[in-house]
Amino acid sequence: MGVFKLGGMTLKSLFKKAPTRRYPYEKREPFERTRGQIDMIDIHDCIFCGLCQRKCPADSIVVDRNESRWEYFPYKCVACDSCVRSCPKHDLKMMQERPSITTNAKESRVYELTPEEKEEKARREAEKKAQAAAKAAAAKAAKEARAKEDVPES
Ligand code: SF4
Ligand code: SF4
Repeated sequence: MGVFKLGGMTLKSLFKKAPTRRYPYEKREPFERTRGQIDMIDIHDCIFCGLCQRKCPADSIVVDRNESRWEYFPYKCVACDSCVRSCPKHDLKMMQERPSITTNAKESRVYELTPEEKEEKARREAEKKAQAAAKAAAAKAAKEARAKEDVPES
């Protein structure tokens, strides 16, 4: 290739629009169905059932029921959408943006109830348990009373 031709090509390429983007400074608009990462919609709607964690093939979600805590590791996530589809409360959503570039791939996002909310939740659960126990005891007593009435007198 002649020197002039090579010089011409180099000059031309200096003024031509680059075929690549300067990622991450220039990002392309995601396609309509792009899956990037997931997010929690409202921690107050989460029942900490752990189904999303069990469905995740990449161990990207950790649910701590006792601590009312939900943690997500975006850099482990393969955006398969399983957790979103399996959540019984429809409390997870898929977002189009990928997590931003990092040097710490262990970064996570945590959603957790406040100490007051945890207290209130424990109180409500205890109340529910007590109500259920009282209902079961009443049903048992009624059953025993019916059984006594059914015994024929000798
Ligand atoms: S599946 Fe839904 S409700 Fe259950 S722990 Fe996950 S986010 Fe919460
Ligand atoms: S989208 Fe898939 S890989 Fe990502 S957290 Fe949900 S289940 Fe796990």
